[in-house]
Amino acid sequence: MRQMRAILLVLGLILIPLSCGQAETQNAPLAASSHGVLKVAFLDVGQGDAIYIEAPNGTQMVIDGGPAGTLMGPLSEVMPFGDRSINVIMVTNPDADHYAGFVDLLKSYDVGAVIEPGTMTGTSLHAELQKGIYDKGIPEILARRGMTIDLDPGAGARFTVLFPDRDVSGATTNDGSIEGVLTYGSTKIMFTGDGTKKTEAFVVSGNTQAALASDILKVAHHGSDTSSSEAFVAAVAPKWAVISVGLHNSYRLPKQSTIDTLTRHGAEILRTDMLGTIVFTSDGTRFIQQK
Ligand SMILES: [Zn+2]
Repeated sequence: MRQMRAILLVLGLILIPLSCGQAETQNAPLAASSHGVLKVAFLDVGQGDAIYIEAPNGTQMVIDGGPAGTLMGPLSEVMPFGDRSINVIMVTNPDADHYAGFVDLLKSYDVGAVIEPGTMTGTSLHAELQKGIYDKGIPEILARRGMTIDLDPGAGARFTVLFPDRDVSGATTNDGSIEGVLTYGSTKIMFTGDGTKKTEAFVVSGNTQAALASDILKVAHHGSDTSSSEAFVAAVAPKWAVISVGLHNSYRLPKQSTIDTLTRHGAEILRTDMLGTIVFTSDGTRFIQQK
C-alpha cells in the first residue's frame, strides 16, 4: 500500500509540470476549441496497437506503440502541431507490435513516465527500448490493480488499472497484459492489450458489471479467438468494438467467431484495417465518432 501511494505521488509530480508546459505551447484558439473534450484516436499502425489519448486539459497518454516504423506518422496527425512531448506511455505487453514504435518515439519526444505490466521478454529490440528509457531517466512504473492515472483531475479524466492484480513476471506476455478503463464523466473505454480469456476471467471475477460496462471496447489481441470470451464481452457490453489489425495480416485476424460474439452482444465493429485511424471525442456525457 505504501509502495502504491509512492507510485501515485511520483505520477502526480510528473503529470503536473508536464501539463503546465503543454499549456504554454498551445495557442489560444486550439486550447479553447478542445476545452472540455477528451479525444481518443485508435491509430492505424497496421498489425499492432497504438492509441492516443488527449484529456480536456491537454495531458497526453499513448497506450502501446505499434510495430517498428509505424507510430510517428499517424501520431503526428492527431497531436497538436509541433508538440514533442507525451506525459505517459503504456506498454500493455512487451510484444513488438505493442512497443517497437516507442523505440522511435523516445528518440525525438520527451516522455514523462512509462507504465508496464512486468512481464518478461528477451528480445534485443525490447532491450533497446529499456536502454532508451534508462538513458533519458524516465520513471518506469508497474501497473497494478487499483492504480489510477489521473490525466485531468479537474475534469475527472482518469485511467484505472484492472489487471495485473498480481506479479506477472512468470506469465506469458499476453496473459499478463494490462487491462483497464479510461473514464471521463459518464463515458468509458475498456482497454485490453493482448489479454487472453484467462486474463478476462480474472477481470470479470474481480469487478462488478458496472465497473466493466463501457461505451467502447478496444478488442483484445486484434480480434483473436483466444480473447473476447462471452462473459467478458457481456460484462463490457460495448456500443462500439474497435479492432486494431493489419490489412491481410498473416494471422488471419480478426477471427469470425470473435466478430460473431461482439455482434451478438450488440457492438458495432470498427476496424483500423478498413477505416484507418479511428477517432472518438467525449464531452463527458457521450462519445461521438469523428468521420
Ligand atoms: Zn498484439
